[in-house]
Amino acid sequence: RDVTGVQTCALPICTKPLIISSANGLHALDKGMAILKSGGDTLDAVIAAVTVVEDDPNDTSVGYGGLPNEDGVVELDASCMHGPTMRAGSVASVRNIKNVARLAKTVMENTNHVMIVGDGARRYAVDEGFEEMNLLTDKSRKIWLAWKASSSMNWRPGIDSPEWKEHMTKLFDGDEKEIAFAEHVIAHPPTGTIPCMAVNEKGDISATTTTSGLAWKIPGRVGDAPIIGAGCCVDNEVGAAGSTGKGEENIKISGGHTIIEQMRQGKSPKDACLEALARIAHNYKNDKKKL
Ligand code: ASP
Repeated sequence: RDVTGVQTCALPICTKPLIISSANGLHALDKGMAILKSGGDTLDAVIAAVTVVEDDPNDTSVGYGGLPNEDGVVELDASCMHGPTMRAGSVASVRNIKNVARLAKTVMENTNHVMIVGDGARRYAVDEGFEEMNLLTDKSRKIWLAWKASSSMNWRPGIDSPEWKEHMTKLFDGDEKEIAFAEHVIAHPPTGTIPCMAVNEKGDISATTTTSGLAWKIPGRVGDAPIIGAGCCVDNEVGAAGSTGKGEENIKISGGHTIIEQMRQGKSPKDACLEALARIAHNYKNDKKKL
């Protein structure tokens, strides 16, 4: 409490830089840490880390190789916030550009806007010198085809053709591991965004969140990742929050903002996250079946 009796939240003194992400970004954090250790900016650090995963064709939840929408087109969402200057940038439903976290940072730095979506974002990226490319890898294309076969009468062999198993075997050249993975993501449309946050020795904080969103989404669907205050939120005096999971639930409770405001009131990060989850549960009247 300060002298007026108002509760204040003391900032921890950071003696060491720190960078964290969801599990699918952990292998890339060294890249960000190297920037922090050499005195670089916290936003540069988180963007460098997630770019490694956006470039990776084997990660099917982010950037190049992300699972596509229901039309078989990859659409990416991303956002970022820079704590020291309290600026934000974001892009949504972007096609053909793989490094959307960096694109969100470019929106933040080079425009008078916070958010650019759809074809406008793609065209803006091209104007800024980003390379255009097909983001659908052969692996993601085959998984999408398998999903089409499972969910449509028309996109699978007819009655005079081999059955489902044979169809899958043919599609994946008999690779049982690939078949099992495809069957899994068809049954459970996967989540796998990367939220990544960093703090340096001075206590400056930045964050980014990047994703290909929910697999098999309706074209144009936007999740929480590019929504400042939901999938990404930074307050340099308090902390940062980012998310993965079903974005619709997070958007409805402004999750990132909720968590930071709870921390501002003195809650620990864990309790602040639990409060956010409790609000989602409350939206379903705590009905465990629906939850
Ligand atoms: N939160 C993301 C979205 O709803 C999905 C994910 O985490 O993979 O778009």
